[in-house]
Amino acid sequence: TTVNFALVGLGSLATNQIAPALQKTKHAKLVGVVTGTPSKEKVWADKYGIAKQNIYNYENFDKLAENGDIDVVYIVLPNGMHKEFTVRGAQAGKHVLCEKPMANNSDDCRAMIDACNTADRKLAIGYRCHFEPHHQHCIELARSEKFGELKAIEAGFGFKIGDPNQWRLKGDLAGGGAMMDVGVYALQACRYLTGEEPAEITAQETKTDMKKFAEVDETITWAMKMPSGVMCYCSTSYAFNGINRFNAYGEKGSFGLDPAFGYGGIKGKSSAGPIEFENVDQFAAEMDAFAKCILEDRQSTVSGEEGLRDLLAVEAIYESIRTGQRTKVGSV
Ligand code: NAD
Repeated sequence: TTVNFALVGLGSLATNQIAPALQKTKHAKLVGVVTGTPSKEKVWADKYGIAKQNIYNYENFDKLAENGDIDVVYIVLPNGMHKEFTVRGAQAGKHVLCEKPMANNSDDCRAMIDACNTADRKLAIGYRCHFEPHHQHCIELARSEKFGELKAIEAGFGFKIGDPNQWRLKGDLAGGGAMMDVGVYALQACRYLTGEEPAEITAQETKTDMKKFAEVDETITWAMKMPSGVMCYCSTSYAFNGINRFNAYGEKGSFGLDPAFGYGGIKGKSSAGPIEFENVDQFAAEMDAFAKCILEDRQSTVSGEEGLRDLLAVEAIYESIRTGQRTKVGSV
């Protein structure tokens, strides 16, 4: 049995990663698209055999309610649009897979969760690393205390951002800068390795280009203390390439991935030697997992609450930068 997906927003990620991944999935099938660019309709129809009645735009999106062929809408729009299309998708009776970061702020995350609960639809966030074998192995190393009780984690992800006019640099569409876009991978790693929620956060921001980063953050470093006492030291940046890793330190050894957060090419090592697994298509694994949750009526492990917890931590990070104070993280 398959679950039928429609992609909402046919930008870079949808075109280059998600649609190709949908050719490899076992339980998820690409049957529909939603686009604001009429010229893309024929391109996608021809390439993926999308039926005319399964092609929508942002105005007639709500008519999805009358379309029984489509089970899931996968929201691949700029962050600031995730809330609107998740809510409208749920109201149209569709399950929703929404890209990370879940939304611009925690209030929007709550509205998305509520809309999906009210409509009795499932909601998941595109946290692909949860479905990646190197990451899964590291979670297992942390949980089994193979290298002793965890004491500290270092994690960071950043890249040098190009085009100064892109939506990622606009406050309303992006919700924030490097932190929202790629900092969440470092934050996620700390959360899934420890299985804990940060209790307190301190953070600081560095800005070198005031014009380019007028509306969003450029570089942030932050420290989080987990309730068990594990210390997490993290960074994210839009200013330079290279940091893409985590390392976890236990009482008897350490383990980590570098590079950690790309679509492939993930490499790891521990005190016991290399960490080697096959690199899988993370998007295919993520979509198959969500399809199975729908088929088996289970909640996703990367639920809306999981997305909300990240936004609560991100808000504490921004608050700490604003106030210069150690900040407590809000609760779900
Ligand atoms: P993109 O700019 O390539 O695509 C965005 C799409 O939204 C485009 O098709 C664009 O036409 C459409 N759009 C509609 N209204 C728009 C508006 N007002 N301004 C700009 N674009 C508008 O972006 P992307 O890289 O595909 O990112 C889309 C989402 O996917 C983001 O939430 C991003 O964080 C997420 N993403 C996730 C990963 C991952 O590894 N999980 C990787 C890249 C992006």
